[in-house]
Formats: sequence, structure tokens, C-alpha cells
Amino acid sequence: MARVLITGGAGFIGSHLCERFLKEGDEVICMDNFITGSPDNIAHLFTNKNFSFIPQDVTTFIYVKGPVDAILHFASPASPVDYLELPIQTLKVGSLGTHKALGLAKEKGARLLLASTSEVYGDPLVHPQKEDYWGNVNPIGPRGVYDEAKRFAEAMTMAYHRAHGVQVRIVRIFNTYGPRMRLRDGRVVPNFIAQALRGEDLTVYGDGGQTRSFCFVSDLVEGLVRLLRSDHTGPVNIGNPRELTILEFAQAIIQLTGSKSKITFNPLPVDDPKQRQPDISLARRVLNNWEPQVSLEAGLRQTIAYFQDKVA
Ligand code: UDP
Repeated sequence: MARVLITGGAGFIGSHLCERFLKEGDEVICMDNFITGSPDNIAHLFTNKNFSFIPQDVTTFIYVKGPVDAILHFASPASPVDYLELPIQTLKVGSLGTHKALGLAKEKGARLLLASTSEVYGDPLVHPQKEDYWGNVNPIGPRGVYDEAKRFAEAMTMAYHRAHGVQVRIVRIFNTYGPRMRLRDGRVVPNFIAQALRGEDLTVYGDGGQTRSFCFVSDLVEGLVRLLRSDHTGPVNIGNPRELTILEFAQAIIQLTGSKSKITFNPLPVDDPKQRQPDISLARRVLNNWEPQVSLEAGLRQTIAYFQDKVA
């Protein structure tokens, strides 16, 4: 049994991680300040004696009593709409928050897994994206607050590894979806599903020719657990390589919800990446043949069922 700290544990991915470690009999300390996370995501976990919650902004000094074996640093706004609304908090959690989490890892002798992102590749000039690509990021654009915070977080994580010998793992997470995404987080999955369920037009930004590759949350969590336990420092891409245009994605949502919604075209956000697809050959190799198992159709059905309640 291990004692695991999950920052951002009340968020979309964080709450699935809490559940996974509790299921394996580990002790989970969840830390969140509910800026974008939600108490609803973890309400069902409080009856588990191995679960505890610390309300905390991780950009300030983190104190945890007793031993800690692993820290999964997942605290951050992650939707473009959120980080445009919270630019300074986003920069602070990626920089100061990562520094605090690494300081705690050093103090406790814990292994730290950093949640990084495909956004470190920016609007990529290499396709699909491999871990050795250095990226194409606009540091002063509106998305820069997230992209640069995560790039700094990677640099800080590697510095603690090299200078202090802290055991670290870095994952670059590509677009992930599933139950517990926030209905109003502004990302394409909740937007399109909510619009389709309400019979409203689906708002495709730009001409919809930009691509994304969507990974179901259970596939991501399996990859994260394997990475934490592997001896590979990373960074490692984890995502589903099935690539779709946003227009194709809109059509898939309309079809799976059986909606009569139409599609409208809105302006493309500044610096919106034109294409994104993970090269997952490294993950396959170092994570024991890890592969996404959940098809887009199966994952979307579960996600649509989750949002049906929320929309109602
Ligand atoms: N998008 C869209 N309509 C929406 C929300 C998003 O067409 O209502 C597009 C967005 O411009 C981007 C893609 O969908 O090209 C994915 O956006 P999201 O915000 O989910 O995440 P990103 O991959 O950009 O971080």
C-alpha cells in the first residue's frame, strides 16, 4: 500500500486518479482549491477510510503530515476558456505550484508525476507529435499562459531530478474526455454534447478543418499508473492517435446523440493549433504495450450519458 498525494484531485482527471488508487487499496490525499475542480467529483469518496481531502492552493507552501510515496501533480486550469479567464493563476500553478510539489517530493523522498500537455508542442510544425519535438509556442499569445507554464513545469521537474535526484515522471497528455468534465468548461467535448442534447447549433470554430485526437479518460488513467510505476522519466505522450477534424467530431456527436442540431461556424480562437495527433510509439514501448482500449463511439456514449443528467 502506498500513500499518494493528488493535486487537482477534485478535477476531471484528478478525481478519476483518486478513484483508481483507492481501488488498488492505496491511501489517497486529495488536494484542490476548487477553482476549476468540483466537490461533486469527490463527494462519493469521503466514505472511504483511505481518502482524505486538504483544501489548498498549491502555489502556497504545501504541508502534508506523515510519509508520502508518490505525488501526482494535476492541479491546473486545463480548458482554453478557463486559462484565458485565469491567466495568472494558470501561470502560478504551473510554476510556483510545480515548485512546491517538487519541494514536497524532495522532502518526503516521493516520486513525482507531472501532468504536462500536448500544448507544449504549441501549433505544431511536426505531425504527428513525438516527444523529441521542441514545439512551436507563442509565448506572448493568450494560450502562452498555459503552454509556457507547462514548459516551465517540465524544466523545473527535470532540474529537481538532475540537481536533487528526485524521482520524476513527465506525461504529455493529449485531449482527454469523459464523465466529470465540467459542462461549462468551454472545451469542445462538453460544448458540442450540451448543444446537441439541447437541440442548439453546434459551434464549430473556424472552418472545422483543424484536428484533434480524443482519448477516453480510463485509457489515460491506465497509462498514467503504468508511467508512475515504470522506470522511464519521460516525457511520454499519452493520448489516442485516432485523429478527426473538428467538423467530423461535430457530426459524430450529432449522430450519437440522435440530435436535430445543425452546425454554425464561429471565429477561430487566436493560436488555435491546426493539427494534433500523438505519436504513442514510446508509450507502447516503455509502458508494457499500453494502448487505448476504448473506441471513440463507446467513450462518447458514456460521456453523453453523463452530460444528459447535467443538462437535465
Ligand atoms: N472548438 C470548437 N467549438 C467549440 C469549442 C472548441 O470548434 O465550441 C474547437 C477549438 O477551436 C479547437 C478544438 O475544438 O480547435 C478543441 O478545442 P478544446 O477547447 O476542446 O481544446 P484544445 O485542444 O484547443 O486545447
